[in-house]
Amino acid sequence: MGDGRSAYFTEEHELLRSQIRRFVDEVVRPQGEAWEREGQIPREALRRMGELGFLGIRHPVEFGGSGADALASAILAEELAHSSFGGFTVTVLVHTDMASPHLAGSGTIDQKRRLLPGIVSGEILTAVAVSEPDAGSDVAAMRTSARRDGDQWVLNGSKMFITNGASADVVFVAAKTDANAKGSRGISMFIVERERAGFSVGRKLEKQGWRSSDTAELVFEECRIPAANLLGRENEGFYAIMRNFQNERLVLSGMAVGEATEGLRLTREYVKNRRAFGAALWDKQAIRLRLSMLEAKVEAARQLYHHCAWRMSHDIDSVREVSMLKAHSGELVNEVMYDCQQFHGGFGYIQESAIERMVRDARVLSIGGGATEVMLEEVAKRSSEE
Ligand SMILES: Cc1cc2nc3c(=O)[nH]c(=O)nc-3n(C[C@H](O)[C@H](O)[C@H](O)COP(=O)(O)OP(=O)(O)OC[C@H]3O[C@@H](n4cnc5c(N)ncnc54)[C@H](O)[C@@H]3O)c2cc1C
Repeated sequence: MGDGRSAYFTEEHELLRSQIRRFVDEVVRPQGEAWEREGQIPREALRRMGELGFLGIRHPVEFGGSGADALASAILAEELAHSSFGGFTVTVLVHTDMASPHLAGSGTIDQKRRLLPGIVSGEILTAVAVSEPDAGSDVAAMRTSARRDGDQWVLNGSKMFITNGASADVVFVAAKTDANAKGSRGISMFIVERERAGFSVGRKLEKQGWRSSDTAELVFEECRIPAANLLGRENEGFYAIMRNFQNERLVLSGMAVGEATEGLRLTREYVKNRRAFGAALWDKQAIRLRLSMLEAKVEAARQLYHHCAWRMSHDIDSVREVSMLKAHSGELVNEVMYDCQQFHGGFGYIQESAIERMVRDARVLSIGGGATEVMLEEVAKRSSEE
């Protein structure tokens, strides 16, 4: 953030930023490698985040949250991403900004009373299950179904690539409730608790990156849940998913901007110390100009990121801007990591270097939560409306 002054952030925002930064330095950086090896984030780290108030930033004060705005989510995503551990960052952000907003946005008072305090404290971990083996970008093509049977709903089908899927206590699941409705119209959201009979984890998926984040296939076989677990209005789930996508894409872009910033910082540090041909690599104009150009691109992306968060915090429709941001930052972080790895030389290819992991973590940022092409289609649709 340069000298720390910004048109968008208040003193409260900056205080939050410094608190998260301290947590990252004291807790995440020292343990991140171990979490990568273990393949998950320990609950105790999440509970600590709950105690510090980081898991309820956006949630209402009456349920233990801080009731803050999208700018606060933007700070959370960016600062966690500076840790360089994408697996840790996505575990938290799925819980705070992708899954639990479904409950906060569409839940009844009873549903919120039952779950939100635990979500904010870190006792309850959440996931959101929309994607399926045959329906990713094309959400409306989902096949998981829910049929009403007396005072219960019965779910059947499977979900794919679900972050926190193996460890979440509560999953917000999208399912078709009207098989005859066209495309997006017959989809509803449900609250499914881990212990429900008929709900199981098919398999935990091994990934290229984000290795400390668990990603799973979820299976529903005649899974019965009470009628009271319908989340939001019947057959209107698609619109809730589209609404939440904006916040989801904002924080995923924050991961891209934050990780790119940290990658450049590590690389500048490396090339200033590494000597070749009688001088530091930083003294080679080709290297320092390339790094400076990338710094300029990342700074431009950061400004769009903050601008999108500001628009969202003022309830201004931002689908075009957020789609641009997601497309741009998801591609940019990969461009940055490629060069960062290049300038680390052989060391950048070795697993003990942070850059090697960051290259792997970055790849999914142009795919998950809205692939670049899908984002650009959203931009194109809106550009032609002008
Ligand atoms: C690690 C990880 C974690 C994830 N976590 C979750 C989660 O927690 N919950 C959840 O619901 N989902 C999750 N996902 C799913 C993710 O959002 C989807 O992978 C993503 O939306 C793309 O869908 P797909 O994989 O089915 O690709 P497809 O839809 O099959 O698309 C494949 C490729 O085709 C191209 N493409 C697609 N549509 C178009 C188009 N209209 N025009 C041009 N090109 C196009 C894109 O390049 C895209 O990458 C996760 C995925 C991963 C890899």
